[in-house]
Order: sequence, then C-alpha cells, then structure tokens
Amino acid sequence: MELNERELTQVVLRVLDQMQQQPGLKDAGVGGVFSRLDDAVGAAAFAQEQLSTLSRERRGELISSMRQAALRDAALLAEMAVRETGMGRVQDKVAEHRLVAAKTPGIEDLETGAWSGDHGLTTVEMAPFGVIGAITPVTNPAATIINNAIGMIAAGNAVVFSPHPSAKVTSRRAVEILNQAIVEAGGPANLLTSVADPSIEFAEALMHHPRVSLVVATGGPGVVRAALSSGKKAIGAGAGNPPAVVDDTCDLSKAGRDLVLGAGLDNNLPCIAEKVIVVVDQVADALMTAMEQNGGWRLAGADADTVTDRILTDKEGQGARGCSGREQVMKRLAVDKRYVGKTANFILREAGVRVAGDPRIAFLEVGREHPLVWLEQMLPVIPVVRVPDVQEAIRFGVEVEQGRRHTATMWSRNVDHMTQLARAIKSTIFVKNGPSYAGIGLGGEGFTSFTIAGPTGEGITSARTFTRRRRCTLVDAFSIV
Ligand code: NAD
Repeated sequence: MELNERELTQVVLRVLDQMQQQPGLKDAGVGGVFSRLDDAVGAAAFAQEQLSTLSRERRGELISSMRQAALRDAALLAEMAVRETGMGRVQDKVAEHRLVAAKTPGIEDLETGAWSGDHGLTTVEMAPFGVIGAITPVTNPAATIINNAIGMIAAGNAVVFSPHPSAKVTSRRAVEILNQAIVEAGGPANLLTSVADPSIEFAEALMHHPRVSLVVATGGPGVVRAALSSGKKAIGAGAGNPPAVVDDTCDLSKAGRDLVLGAGLDNNLPCIAEKVIVVVDQVADALMTAMEQNGGWRLAGADADTVTDRILTDKEGQGARGCSGREQVMKRLAVDKRYVGKTANFILREAGVRVAGDPRIAFLEVGREHPLVWLEQMLPVIPVVRVPDVQEAIRFGVEVEQGRRHTATMWSRNVDHMTQLARAIKSTIFVKNGPSYAGIGLGGEGFTSFTIAGPTGEGITSARTFTRRRRCTLVDAFSIV
C-alpha cells in the first residue's frame, strides 16, 4: 500500500506522540518544551503542517479542549504565577485565567469576504501565517499564553513562546497543559512550543529565526522596539499609563468603588489598570472619601513621601527625592522591581507606614510633576491629581497617557465630556463609568485579549489578527444573478 504525503505525516505524528509518552524522553520536547530553539521551531512548524490538514470543525474541537483545560487549571496556574514571580493576587489571576479561557475568540472570529458580479466570484480568506514567535510578559504569564495560544491556533498557526525568564516555570506549565489538551482532542503534538531556559537572547533569536513568519511581542517598550526591528511582520503590544478622569457630573460613590477595583486588580499589574487619577477640584475630596469607603488607603504628609521614596529608585545614584518633572523623572527614576505587583499592605509596611487590613490600593494626592504620574508603576499606590475644571482634566489626562494609545477611563454623566476625552486621547480602549478591566470584557461587553497592540495599531488582538489575507478569483462563473 502506498501512502501519500499527508497520510505519511499522520503516521509519523502518531509515532512521535507515542514516543513522547515514554518516560525518559522529557528533553525531546514532551509537552512542547525543548532545549534548543531550532528544535522548538522545527517541531512547531511540523505541527502546523498537521493542523493545516484538519478541518475547521476539528480545529474548533482543539480550541474547546484548550478552553476546558485552562478553566480546570486556572487556580493552579494562578498559584504558580504568584509564587514564582512574587507578583499579583491569586484570586485576581484566577479570574483573569477564567476570562481568557472563556472569552478569547476562537475560529468563529475568522471571516471570509466575497465579491460577485459580471466577472464571477472573488473570495478573501483569513489564512495562517505558519509559525508565530510570541514573546510574553512576567506580569500575566499564563493569561497571555492561554489567550495567545487560543487565538493563534484558531487562526491555524503554531506558536513558539518566549516567556519572561522570571515566569519560566509557570509559562512552561501553561504550554504543557494546553498541548496536552490539544493532543487529547486528537490534534498534533507541539502546536505550542517553548524552551526550558528562556532569555532575552532567546527572544531575539526567535524573532530572527527564518521559519518564524510573524512576531507578536507583549511587554514594555524594549521588546516592542526589538520586535519592530526584526525585519518580520510584527505586532507590538506595549506599555500604557492609563489615566482615570473624573468630572463633577459623575456618580462619585460609584467612581470611588470602581477606581479601587480597577486600579487594584492583580495589584495594578495589568497594562490596562488605572495608573493615575485626574479629578476636578470641586469633587476631589468627595472622590477620595468614596475611595476610602470602598477599601482604598489614603496616604498623606510624611507617609506619602516615605512610600514614594521607597518604591522609586534612582538610575544615576542621586536619590529620588527632589526629582520632578516629566523629562527628569523618565531619565533618572525607575520603579523599584522589588515592589512591582506587591500588595499595598506589603509596600506600606516595608516603608514603615502603619496600615490596617489588606487594602486593594493606597492613594496619595500629588502635584502634576510627581514621578508616579509619569512612571508606569504596576503597583497599587495610585497618584491623584486635582485640576480646576473638566477641560483641564481632559487636557492633562491626554498628557499623562503620553501618546501610548493604550487605555483611558472616565467617570462622567456628560456625554460631551466623554466624547471630548475619547477623541483627544485616541486610546485603544476607553471605558466610561466602570473599572478599566470592563474594557477587556471582565464585567463589560465584548471579547477579551491580553495582547493589546497600541503601537502597531491592531488594537485588541484576536484570531483574525494572526492571519494573512488570501484572495481567490474565479473568472466568469459562480455568480448566479
Ligand atoms: P518586559 O518588557 O520586561 O518583558 C516582556 C518580554 O519581553 C519578556 O519575555 C522579556 O524577556 C522580553 N524582552 C524584554 N526586553 C527585550 C528585548 N530588548 N529584546 C527581546 N526580548 C525582550 O515587560 P514585563 O515586565 O514582562 O511586562 C510588563 C510590561 O508589559 C508593562 O510595560 C506592561 O504595560 C506591558 N504589557 C503590555 C500589554 C499589552 O497588551 N499592551 C500586556 C501586558 C503587559
């Protein structure tokens, strides 16, 4: 009996699957984790060819299986991530994992376009790129992998992940869990791969690997710059500094509650979480009272200075105190990594400030030039800036966002104010009268994504973002009118 190429590959795949079940072959890439980049990319390329032989319906079944596995292990991955990185809150990460498992679009996101007319029929279909190199952050390691994996495989691709080194164990486990779910549903092994010891050098080499057709980088400005210099098609999901603008027409008690919840999510790690509050003078005191009543911890006087000094470090060894103004801050100061993603309680105690309970956030009233206004802190100490009126709040909110085109929020009952800010700020996500996370589908309508591509413009990515358009034209037929 002669086998054609497709049948032959399926036999090889089955044999490989069986081999990988054998003990002692861990380093041969069981669960998709390899020692060498070439092996990780080669295995992913092979798996992608297998995926392309499956029907869309079968692909959908693989996605369902991935969703179920991610839901089943949402808590396990949350606990692992918090333990390994020392950042974030387990319960919040569980919610994020459930969100990406349930609300990341699958194959239904792919659409076909068509034109028919005198000259027949032309269709445009969303086709896979092949192998994607995906670089993922330490802040949401498992959520980003689950989200990217579902969207990228739904689009027909295989993925080689380069996780942040400080989240490598959790990321590896996420890749293994999802791969296992794919194989259990009858799909190919190694549709998702990674390496045991990821590093920035590995990420660089992955981006330049000749068999990688698309680079997707989720992280800070450095990795987005590197992705855009890769010479490949690149999707860059970079840093934000989301302002929360509060005017004098809003429901203040709701604004106070929403702000504590939004800025406090996962200890302020998510890129979409409110980083600076800009409030109109007339309601500033009432807003801060509402935040206190909803679990925010107010810092004032010497305590505010001590905490600020504690969480900032000076890159040039000159001391953080006295450094102000946007340019000076960006040049000289950085957030001390020891406090990123920690609880407010931990940060305040470390700074020697008395605190009771486990407040979701601490907040402090500051001037416009305060360092926390300009740095993306990713910890739950939130600056509040008082401005004279709504026009100034809108203008300053735009300045705070720094042209990153990421996320902004506003609490207002005035449609004109909300429209003005939305138009001026040009952010990818704009949430009105709710916590920022409503903008990624957590308590808000719409699908979710943990890769929000502001710099390169794809916005809230989904399966269709990871496709290339292919056109097919049949001349003078199949148009029936
Ligand atoms: P990071 O930039 O330090 O690291 C992100 C990833 O890029 C890691 O895997 C890291 O190893 C790699 N990396 C870093 N510099 C690199 C370089 N020069 N070349 C190649 N690879 C490089 O960011 P992080 O601390 O892991 O995550 C937090 C940052 O990511 C924040 O700025 C946050 O706003 C941003 N973020 C953005 C989104 C989004 O959707 N836009 C989502 C999550 C996080």
